[in-house]
Amino acid sequence: MKNKALTISNLTIHPGEKIALALPIPELYTCAKVHIPIHVLHGKKQGPILIVCSAMHGDEINGIAIIQKLLNLHLLKSLSGTLIAIPVLNIHGMMMNNRSLLDRRDLENSFPGSESGSFAARLAHVLTTEVFSKATHCIDLHSSEPQIERLSQVHAPFSNAESRKMAEAFAAPATIDTDSKRGLLWLAHKENPLPTMIYDTGEPLRIDIDGIREGVKGLVRTLRHLQMIPSVKPATQAEESPVMQKTTWLRSSSSGLCRFYHPLGDVIKKGALIARVSDPFGTKNKEEILAPFSGMIIAKSTLPIVNEGDSIVQVAEMEEIKEAAGKPLHPISFS
Ligand SMILES: [Zn+2]
Repeated sequence: MKNKALTISNLTIHPGEKIALALPIPELYTCAKVHIPIHVLHGKKQGPILIVCSAMHGDEINGIAIIQKLLNLHLLKSLSGTLIAIPVLNIHGMMMNNRSLLDRRDLENSFPGSESGSFAARLAHVLTTEVFSKATHCIDLHSSEPQIERLSQVHAPFSNAESRKMAEAFAAPATIDTDSKRGLLWLAHKENPLPTMIYDTGEPLRIDIDGIREGVKGLVRTLRHLQMIPSVKPATQAEESPVMQKTTWLRSSSSGLCRFYHPLGDVIKKGALIARVSDPFGTKNKEEILAPFSGMIIAKSTLPIVNEGDSIVQVAEMEEIKEAAGKPLHPISFS
């Protein structure tokens, strides 16, 4: 079926058009105008309207690189439906290498926003009314918080059947089924739910080549699942992504130097040695951090120096793990 015209920010986009538009957002106190660049690829054939956005936190660069690579793919020449790509949602944070906005609020916590609220709420309101209200599906790209590195992973509410199918099609190295309304996941919980998922990889202010590659491959698989681009024959099957629900941050109960014994993505058995904290002035071991349950390491601190109470490693619980898992390793931070 032939596609219909689409209007974003008073601009009408006709079927077959590929445009870059600038969405006006609240201006700076210097009276400087600020815009969010948006790419719209509006296919000739009707289909889903998919938003792919990144840099909700201004210091998260991996998602920007994923969108750049996605937009250069020849596969999009035969697009059915519409791809709306927003490489930088948080322009203000990006200018300052910061995850927050000018008012120090977190844009991710500000949706759906309000016309008369804080600066963050007004920005979220513009994005909600001008862009997210036009979509049928949404994928939000993130990286971790400062001083944490994250395994490439998808977060999606499996209570929404289409969010679940998108996450399964994306097939990231790990998938977390979550009830969280974090950031744009609120779209999957509103009155007319919008299938939504988050892809999270690597660290802020860093480029993670593997995480970017996984992100582009996952997006292509999801576009195929949504029948926005042609399927390949014979279909290439991605490795099945382990799905987990409960995630826990393990904390250090002593201060010192921390040696990690497992890299991201390792599957460990209950009781496995994950990290050891030692006296920084001697050789005395102060604490062994053991896995309280079997699971996969999905994030960890990048700081080898820890204070009592610091988060060390995040483990996603798994009920069944392979026999080969949990092999003892040499320390991987330093020796
Ligand atoms: Zn983020």
